[in-house]
Amino acid sequence: MSLEVSTHSDRRFRALIEHGTDAIALLAPDGTVTYASPSIERILGYPPQEFMTINGFAVIHPGDLPSLAHTFQHLLAIPGLVATQQVRSRHKDGTWRWVEATLTNLVHNPDVQAVVTNLHDITGRKQAEEKLKALAEQTEESEQRFRLLADGAPVMIWTSGIDKLCTYFNAPWLAFTGRTLEQELGNGWTEGVHPADTQRCLDVYTSSFDARKPFSMDYRLRRWDGQYRWIVDNGIPFSTPDGTFTGYIGSCIDITERRRLEQQLQYSERKLRTLVESNILGVVVADVDGQIYEINDRAAQMVGYSKDELLAETFNWQRLVPPDSYETQAQATKTLLSTGALPPFEGEYLRKDGSRVPVLAAGTLLDQERRLALGVILDISERIEAERRKQEFLSMVSHELRTPLTSIMGLIELALMQIDLRPRSLPPEAEGLLGQIEKTLKRADGQVEIEPRLVEELLEVTRLEMRKFELSLHPENLVTIVQEIVANQQQAARTRQIELVLPPDELVPVIADAGRVGQVLTNYLANALKYAPVDQVVSVRLAVEASSARVSVCDQGPGLTPEQQSRVWERFYQVAAPGHQGPDGGLGLGLAIARAIVEQHQGQVGVQSAPGQGSTFWFTLPLS
Ligand code: ADP
Repeated sequence: MSLEVSTHSDRRFRALIEHGTDAIALLAPDGTVTYASPSIERILGYPPQEFMTINGFAVIHPGDLPSLAHTFQHLLAIPGLVATQQVRSRHKDGTWRWVEATLTNLVHNPDVQAVVTNLHDITGRKQAEEKLKALAEQTEESEQRFRLLADGAPVMIWTSGIDKLCTYFNAPWLAFTGRTLEQELGNGWTEGVHPADTQRCLDVYTSSFDARKPFSMDYRLRRWDGQYRWIVDNGIPFSTPDGTFTGYIGSCIDITERRRLEQQLQYSERKLRTLVESNILGVVVADVDGQIYEINDRAAQMVGYSKDELLAETFNWQRLVPPDSYETQAQATKTLLSTGALPPFEGEYLRKDGSRVPVLAAGTLLDQERRLALGVILDISERIEAERRKQEFLSMVSHELRTPLTSIMGLIELALMQIDLRPRSLPPEAEGLLGQIEKTLKRADGQVEIEPRLVEELLEVTRLEMRKFELSLHPENLVTIVQEIVANQQQAARTRQIELVLPPDELVPVIADAGRVGQVLTNYLANALKYAPVDQVVSVRLAVEASSARVSVCDQGPGLTPEQQSRVWERFYQVAAPGHQGPDGGLGLGLAIARAIVEQHQGQVGVQSAPGQGSTFWFTLPLS
């Protein structure tokens, strides 16, 4: 059937059909095309005449065919029914086109007797839809990838949309807060922020967001266990590749521990600063090679340089060390590096004007790698000066004491001589009286004799401590010195038993001041005889060790506690305990003098003792 047979149709209608964008085809109930409008060529590439030679179902995509056939059957059953279906049709060039077919059953209509099929090309729309779908799938996929990544990240991550509301929190965030994603979304997360930080947090977030600027803020966030932890939150604006702003993405880490350490550091830094700036003590930071990095006013003032001079790269700490202390300084550096600290020691530094300043100094290693040390210095000139004045006073007093003592002794001597030269013819009463006077004078003489020794000791210790103490050093045989002293003491205390143990070698060579060394041994031996019971043996032993000789005096006396053992070397120290009161009442200077003498000889002194177990006082001298 052709449209020309429809004599009722007017020309306008024909023009509409033949020039419309949609194509119209009339199908017989078996699918045969009985008419195709010219537009069919634009949609499926077939000229209408050619299209009319094929079956309409032959161009349908096999995938769409069953459902179309079904619709068609259904349509045929109900006259006048209209059905629409989207199907793929093969174009003449072999490609598939999407068409929307609107089928109207007009088979029963005597004018038409066919299913009128309106074909509308929707390939473009379909393609656009496909594209959109693919894009959506892609987006979903990258979103999933992002979440996977974010959940595995060691930081807490959140995102927000352009409305500032949070759209996502990663698994670490949720694990941290112990809340669900739903609770956190939107502004829910602010419920976990410490109330004192919430406003500040929101202000930073809002203002940065409006300016599309990155931000970084610290705030306290409640952890799952209820504890507030400090976190740092870094947010950045986020846009798609084409530059469209899509919101913010942020990452957070728990910095509670870091903050605590920082605060601790700040605190100790402040403590140190306060100490340095208080200028009570001299404080200096320098490396062990002598470069000074920091020095306070007090330290600079002590050594008489300006801080700038001291901090100059060309300045070296060594310049402050007097040449006679180079060795001590080297030793101190070694101690500092090996133990990390330098215990307090007394020494001197050279001032800019060449004078010396006595100091008490101590140090500690700040940085092992950079070999950086912190030194604390105390100017002790005043103390030293006071000490010197005291010594001067002592020395003066001793001299003043000695002069009248000498005359008193001379006068007693004279009086005794006068009694001795008395006439023989005196009456017996006068003779008796003179005899008594003589006895009294002799007792006085005995007492006065102790005094010059005491005064001598006082003078001696004064000289020692003022370092006005010259040794007359000679090569000596220590065996001889020891033998001589023991013999002397034995003679003075005939009733006492002194045992002498000598080494097999007959010669123990030392460079020493024989008189002074003898004085030390005399002191040890006299003490032993003085403090030990008279019926106990005192033994003197000389032994040779690797590079030194050791002389020791062992007694069975009262013994000493550890504290007493260290204090007996102090001047004027005497143990106030039974058994320690000697018959002559010494001054407590003997051992102080002994130590000074031995140390001047580069030797050492010491005592081994325990209360009730006797004492062994010893000293060593380097072998020559
Ligand atoms: P001094 O004997 O003149 O008091 P020293 O300096 O020689 O002074 O001795 C100091 C103190 O040490 C003595 O007063 C005495 O208490 C104690 N001491 C010294 N030697 C001995 C010893 N061998 N046994 C017990 N105590 C001793």
